[in-house]
Amino acid sequence: LPDGRRELVGMTHAELLAEMVAIGEKPFRAKQLWHWIYHQGARDFAAMNSIAKPMQAKLAERFVVGRPEVATEQTSTDGTRKWLFRFRDAQQVETVYIPEDDRGALCISTQVGCTLSCSFCHTGTQKLVRNLGVAEIVGQFMAARDSYGEWPTPKGGSGDDDGRRLSNIVVMGMGEPLYNYENIRDALIIIMDHEGIALSRRRITLSTSGVVPVMDLCGQELGVNLAVSLHAVRDDLRDELVPLNRKYPIAELLAACRRYPGASNARRITFEYVMLKGINDSVAEAQELTRLLRGIPAKVNLIPFNPWPGSKYETSTHASIQAFADVLSRAGYSSPVRRPRGRDILAACGQLKTETERARRG
Ligand code: SAH
Ligand code: SF4
Repeated sequence: LPDGRRELVGMTHAELLAEMVAIGEKPFRAKQLWHWIYHQGARDFAAMNSIAKPMQAKLAERFVVGRPEVATEQTSTDGTRKWLFRFRDAQQVETVYIPEDDRGALCISTQVGCTLSCSFCHTGTQKLVRNLGVAEIVGQFMAARDSYGEWPTPKGGSGDDDGRRLSNIVVMGMGEPLYNYENIRDALIIIMDHEGIALSRRRITLSTSGVVPVMDLCGQELGVNLAVSLHAVRDDLRDELVPLNRKYPIAELLAACRRYPGASNARRITFEYVMLKGINDSVAEAQELTRLLRGIPAKVNLIPFNPWPGSKYETSTHASIQAFADVLSRAGYSSPVRRPRGRDILAACGQLKTETERARRG
């Protein structure tokens, strides 16, 4: 911070401990602060009533417990909520909450923009790109919890995880998480920590366009659920839709899926497949897909293409999506068609892009 105070959110256990030792405090302080920050959701040292007043003051002189600034918050008629968060350098990202009956998933961003420029994705057209820091990633979840009043227990809820509306995280917002791996790793380790937010790795799904070498690390170090943006069954087409395919072609990508630890019938790998009219949506391609996925515990998420201003594709027809899904389900793959959510607030997959960028480009 400009005033020399340091942000505590985003520090690992070890870093927080080092900070306490540096100001002459006992190690138990780190544990105490962790509980206040990540279990209770406290933002103000004065609210940390297990800490003596003079100590609270000492901490407040040196540290802050921050949140990203909420630039805008919109709630769709279907309950989807979208935030535009602004960081200290004025860069912004979007975060979306997708409700599902008594629970729901928070879709978090990992980069401002994305360097990968998939041809159907709005985020990939954004010019400014930088990685988000650990605090900026964890902060999206913490700010969403603030917004729903779910610290330390859900309002009127039972106190266990199931009572929370923010029950799951999908790392599917702006950016390619595996191009910002160390920060997303540290952020998820904080979010999964048992003494804090304590979200189980089974409730977290990370989506990648296929950064093969980092997929292995992700499996070993985090063991979260994996989603892979496949979108095509032939390399020539995937090269065009997902340019990263030129580096890590389909065969290598699927080999990485085959060796992903923890994948089983109970924990399948999700393959995302955006349905583009006349491009990748034929029955022959569905058949080829079932052949490619053989031997992988997989399910396929069919995502009707979400158009954005200036996009060059059209959404597949309902009938062709149905025919595609039928081929998959006859081969034994669960193949839900993802309903677009939050259409009225441009919150659907691939539509995320900051307002300032939209305005600048007209
Ligand atoms: N970079 C990661 C995660 C963010 S994108 C990845 O690509 O997997 C999240 C999902 O939205 C991906 O499957 C992506 O291919 C999909 N997507 C992007 N643009 C879309 C659009 N316009 N319509 C539908 N899905 C889209
Ligand atoms: Fe980046 Fe994912 Fe969009 Fe591709 S689909 S440009 S990897 S955010």
